[in-house]
Order: sequence, then C-alpha cells, then structure tokens
Amino acid sequence: MRILILGGGGREHAMAWKLVQSPGVSIFAAPGNPGIAQIGTCCPVADGSPESFLSIADHAGADLTVVGPEAPLVAGVVDAFRARGRKIFGPDQAAARLEGSKVFAKSFLTQRHIPTADFVAVDNETDARRALDRFGFPVVLKADGLAAGKGVVVAQTRAEAEQALATLKGRLVIEEFLRGEEVSFIALCDGRNVLPLAPTQDHKAVFDGDTGPNTGGMGAYCDRAILSEAQTREILDRVIYPTVEATRFTGFLYAGMMMTADGPKVLEFNVRMGDPETQPLMHRLASDFAAVLMAGAEGNLGGAHLAWRPGPSVCVVLASAGYPGAYESGRAISGIESAEALGATVFHAGTRIGAQGLETAGGRVLGVTAGGDDLRTAIDRAYEAVRQVHFDGMHYRSDIGRKGLRRYNERTVGT
Ligand code: AMP
Repeated sequence: MRILILGGGGREHAMAWKLVQSPGVSIFAAPGNPGIAQIGTCCPVADGSPESFLSIADHAGADLTVVGPEAPLVAGVVDAFRARGRKIFGPDQAAARLEGSKVFAKSFLTQRHIPTADFVAVDNETDARRALDRFGFPVVLKADGLAAGKGVVVAQTRAEAEQALATLKGRLVIEEFLRGEEVSFIALCDGRNVLPLAPTQDHKAVFDGDTGPNTGGMGAYCDRAILSEAQTREILDRVIYPTVEATRFTGFLYAGMMMTADGPKVLEFNVRMGDPETQPLMHRLASDFAAVLMAGAEGNLGGAHLAWRPGPSVCVVLASAGYPGAYESGRAISGIESAEALGATVFHAGTRIGAQGLETAGGRVLGVTAGGDDLRTAIDRAYEAVRQVHFDGMHYRSDIGRKGLRRYNERTVGT
C-alpha cells in the first residue's frame, strides 16, 4: 500500500514512522523532511493547492492520502481528491470550517447545545469594547480565521485587551475565560463511526510553568490516566457524536477541551491531528495504523478497535532560540543517534540537510519521544535522551508531563 502524507513537520514524521511499521506499506510525503526521507520518498510541493497535491498523488500512485496540516483541508483538498476518485482521510471543505472559522465553530456549538464558553462575535471595535464590558477579566479574544496558533489572546486586564484589539484585525470572537485542565481529545471519524484516540495534553506556552507567549506546542504526553472512563464517555456523548452526526465528519476530529468544574467544555475544534500530540500518540499506539486509516477512508470504522501500549509516552520539543518570535536557522544538529541509542525516538520538525549536514530550519526543530511503565519513567527517559542532542541556542521546557505527575500525587493523597 502506498500512502501519501501531506505536510512536513513533526506530526507528519511521527505518522510516517508509525505507518511504515505496517506490513507492505511504503511512504511518500509532500514535502516531507529529512527524518521522513530516511524511511520514505519526499516529493517537492509546487504551490500547496489541492491540484498540486493531486498531481503528486497521481505521480506516486498513492492508494491512500492522509492530511497533516489544516491549510490544505480548508482549501478543499479532500473534495478535490474525492472528485477524482482518490482515497483520502480528512474532512471536506465544509466540515473544515470547524477549524477555519472560529465564528462558524462557536455558532455550530451553540446551535447544537454542545458545551463551550459563552461568547459574542464582533465585527468592529465598538462592539468589541461592549463585549469586554460584558465578560469582565480575564477575557479571551480570538481572530476568526486560521492564524497558526497566533490568533488567541487571553487578556488579564482591560489594557491587555485594548492592546489585543489593536493587533487582532477583522472579525473576532470574544469569550468567557474558562478554568480547568486542558485535554486534547482526538477521534478518527468516517462520517458515521467514531474511534477515539487516547487522551493527550499539550504544553502551549514557551517557558516552564506555562509562562511566556503561546507556541505551536512545546511538548505533549499521552497517558490513559488523563481522563477517567466517565469523562471520556461524556466527551464522546456531548461533543464528538453530535458533531459527527451533524457534519458527517470524516478524518481526525480534534476537540480541545477544558475540564471545568461544570463538566467538559469545547475550547476549539481542529480538523486534523495535533502537533506535538501526534508524536506521543503514534509512539504509544500498538495497532496497525495503516489498516485503521484505510478503514476510515472507506467508511469502515464500525467495530474497529485500537490497542495501546500500557505505559505513557512523552514528547519534548527542542526549539530554536527566539521561537516563537524571530529565530535563526542553519545551526548544526548533533546527538540524535546517541539519543536514539538510549531508546528514544527523535522526530524531525524544522530540519534540513545543509552545508554542515543536518541543520535547524524552523522554530520547532525536533521532538524527542520516549515511553515507560509509568509517567515518571517516561519523562526521565525523554529528558535523558534530550541531553544527548545539541544545536546552538537549543531551547526546551523542562516540565513536560509534570501536570500529569501532579494528578497521580493528588489521587494518591486523596485515596
Ligand atoms: P484555541 O486556539 O482556541 O484553542 O486557543 C489557544 C489556547 O488559548 C488554548 O489552548 C487555551 O490555553 C487558551 N484558551 C482559549 N480559549 C480559552 C477560554 N475560553 N478560556 C481559557 N483559556 C482559553
């Protein structure tokens, strides 16, 4: 089976790494990255339009295509592939609006009585100011369209909210600030059936203790203990099933959840896998992922089941100095082999082959991923491997997974 992966980050390397473990699978990626190039064929992308991806799929003779990032989905790549009879796993353009427009997503949630933060959509500054009066502080301001993780501001004070109004242009969602623990809940959907992945937690802020500006994600861990069975059931019944029923959703439906004192509420929808959540998810998944994706693309997820390794997996992102602001590329990378010799798996994100061999080529450079029988062991193994890797200016958080350890401690104390 030839599988084409659209994208070239850590998420896509993790998917490729898992998929080549399925019998008879060969991997193509557009554009891919140097990590994927070690296990598959990377194809240059002309302009990122649905047509450009179709011609790559034709050329590769892809039996199945899986989409990593949101932009091609919002541009209608799934509709274009289906119109040409090509199998692809992802949502059509209409369903991709759940991620492409915050206003659309919030209206959808409200109409369907799916729990989410109270909000108003505003088109101008006067209405925005009125909305700020209504919610008090902290308050959350969100740009309507795709913003690569940069379109959300949590304003603690009116001054911060005014500052945000000056930078976030166009339509905005202004919403109530929710308190609780965040969980990434991702399910494979085939238009009718739903197959949930294990729960994960991302770490968005750039510095330890969730401080500093938000990034694409500085690390994630996957651990079944993040949600109880009752919480999983509640998210499925109140969020995932109603959404799939209403939209006939196909692909990865990612609900960013806040576990509040009033129950789980939706912070946002994504219509694809998360990055870096995919890295620990693929690392922990025991099932044949290629078979499951094909079943998803063919509408056959009914009765499908996923098996997981029992222990948690942890991914620590190694970033360039300055990220998420301006950063420099072209720093030589060393130590990946030593990290992998310790049993970790190192996923490439922003890397390239340059004059010095493997070099940095992005804000998030690598995702060092390891597992263990318990969360403490998985975290220790991941950081032991991280210490083998070097590039000038390398920055990473030293507390990935710590929230999970607190959970274990609280439970132990409480019982
Ligand atoms: P979003 O892209 O909508 O998930 O927002 C990015 C991040 O902002 C989330 O992962 C949360 O940490 C935070 N956030 C978004 N909406 C809210 C909210 N209503 N209350 C508290 N935090 C929020």
